[in-house]
Amino acid sequence: MEQTLVIIKPSAIERGLVGEVISRFQRKGLLIAGMKMMTLGEDILREHYAHLVDRPFFPWILDSMMATPVIVMCLKGKDAVDVVRTMTGATNGRKAAPGTIRGDFSLSSQENIVHASDSIESAEVEINRFFKPEEIFFYRPADIKFIYAPDEM
Ligand code: ADP
Repeated sequence: MEQTLVIIKPSAIERGLVGEVISRFQRKGLLIAGMKMMTLGEDILREHYAHLVDRPFFPWILDSMMATPVIVMCLKGKDAVDVVRTMTGATNGRKAAPGTIRGDFSLSSQENIVHASDSIESAEVEINRFFKPEEIFFYRPADIKFIYAPDEM
């Protein structure tokens, strides 16, 4: 099963949306393989958002992501990377489709509630960036046969 990284951003923490966001992923059937609260420093943010460090708005991203602690999650499921990106929606909350997390809770390109890995390769790098191996748990949920067909597990 695929794993992906989600960060519940300060915009969700400040606006009381943590439970809503986690609940959406759980209700979908995704397994929480890892979850913790942490403060992000400039070094890890520069690494995580390396593709944006030269953009004029990068200092705002740093401020925004360091405004409160964040919650990082490792979610597991079939095609989890694509499934979670679809549930997350477009970067700009004003353009994100209704029904997606950003489409339902964000009006901003910056304050957009969640981060989700954009590929299987970046998911692996990002999970290793935020979690130690012993913080990722392997267990089989009792209801798995009501989530997937035998050939989907
Ligand atoms: P995504 O988070 O959808 O993968 P990006 O990797 O392009 O999108 O951007 C990373 C994060 O940087 C966004 O989620 C958002 O918080 C911030 N960001 C992106 N574009 C802008 C922008 N034009 N202005 C302010 N913040 C931005």
